[in-house]
Amino acid sequence: MKKTALFPGSFDPFTNGHHDIVMRGLNIFDEVIISVGHNTSKKNRYFDIDFMVEKIKNTYKKNPSVKVIVYDELTSSLAKKHEARYLLRGLRNTTDFEYENTISQMNRYLNESLETVFLITTPEYAAISSTIIREVHKYGGNVNKFLPYKV
Ligand code: ADP
Repeated sequence: MKKTALFPGSFDPFTNGHHDIVMRGLNIFDEVIISVGHNTSKKNRYFDIDFMVEKIKNTYKKNPSVKVIVYDELTSSLAKKHEARYLLRGLRNTTDFEYENTISQMNRYLNESLETVFLITTPEYAAISSTIIREVHKYGGNVNKFLPYKV
């Protein structure tokens, strides 16, 4: 049976840290579906969702094992719909852990066949966060070296 993992997130923006998780995820799973969450509503995002999806799609255009979708529903239901039995998430530190721990337990409760698989960040990407990148970009700093595409 094909092993499909969803990699859900806001990806506002999608960073080299996320890219690293996707590439390492592909060593474990047959397919990784990057699922860009729309739940926080378009106007609350910093980078436009369609712009971001386009950038991510372009990053993986030569990799048929990576799909990119937008979603606005429970991750656990989305996983069922795509026959994905795994959720892929990254862990940088204890703050990530506390957050991930609760959502992972809730997702398991909502869909008991769903396993969350955590990959510990590669040290060189540990300091990369979408929040910091938004701040730097907002004040005119060049963020391209933290992203697998150009903005
Ligand atoms: P969310 O809004 O759901 O937290 P994010 O887009 O911020 O989504 O992150 C998606 C996933 O990627 C999360 O599991 C997060 O911990 C992980 N992640 C973010 N940045 C990094 C990084 N630099 N290295 C490894 N994992 C990361």
